[in-house]
Amino acid sequence: MRRNVERWAVGQRVTRLDCLRPTTFRDGSLEAAQRLPGARVEQVLRRGKVMWIEVSRGHGWLVRFGMTGKWLHVAPAHDELPPHVRAVLALEDGTRLVFADCRNLGSIRVYHGVSGEYLLQQVVPGIDPLLDGLSGRNLAACTAGRRSPIKALLLDQAAIAGIGNIYASEVLFAAGIHPRRPGRTLSPTECARLAGQIQRVLTWAIDFFAADDIRLQGEEGVGDPFQVYRRHGLPCRRCRTPIERERIASRSTFYCPRCQPLRAAIDPEDSACQ
Ligand SMILES: [Zn+2]
Repeated sequence: MRRNVERWAVGQRVTRLDCLRPTTFRDGSLEAAQRLPGARVEQVLRRGKVMWIEVSRGHGWLVRFGMTGKWLHVAPAHDELPPHVRAVLALEDGTRLVFADCRNLGSIRVYHGVSGEYLLQQVVPGIDPLLDGLSGRNLAACTAGRRSPIKALLLDQAAIAGIGNIYASEVLFAAGIHPRRPGRTLSPTECARLAGQIQRVLTWAIDFFAADDIRLQGEEGVGDPFQVYRRHGLPCRRCRTPIERERIASRSTFYCPRCQPLRAAIDPEDSACQ
């Protein structure tokens, strides 16, 4: 989404803002947003699940996507807007940058006179695996002494930023770790494996879902690209054991009981480290 908005809008002036749902703009941001026309889009940043669109004159938009928020690009020839449009930014080349959000959980806040990098660090303090890198040691620091299931720890954006419910299941499958394992029981080897898989799976997903209209879970055209997510009852792609579903951290969680045993195998190297 960040790459798309960068490609579509950076370097262009905003000629008009149309807001179709004022409450998408939080904390009185709509009034500030309406002063935007004439400003130029300068850069688009991301940290965790939060986007920053910086425009000239010191303005920036902090965008949260909720479950269904997305940016789309509408060519000048197309008068018709896509469904669930909340805001439309007309750009100087005649195209429109559109924020659509069917469940309305997304939000936009307008800031003035702050550095985007600084603000993103404040609102997303956790480690972003793709921006900051994530080592086994970093991950071990997040799980040490924690009784919570590793699935819940992965969703904690203040620890590691950018993993949502789908990818929490996917990275744990890739690392062969049961989602209900208490964080503190993960060995250094498992932390290193999980850290590597988090970066690999997130990088895969960004490339796999890259498109002008990025399909979100629940939309048509997503298909079945995942290893375990929403595959309960279907055979594991690795060992054919049926995938199971369980509620962990109040969210549906998917795993293979054979590839992700609840009791970790004892690794002689780990007992030596501990
Ligand atoms: Zn399996």
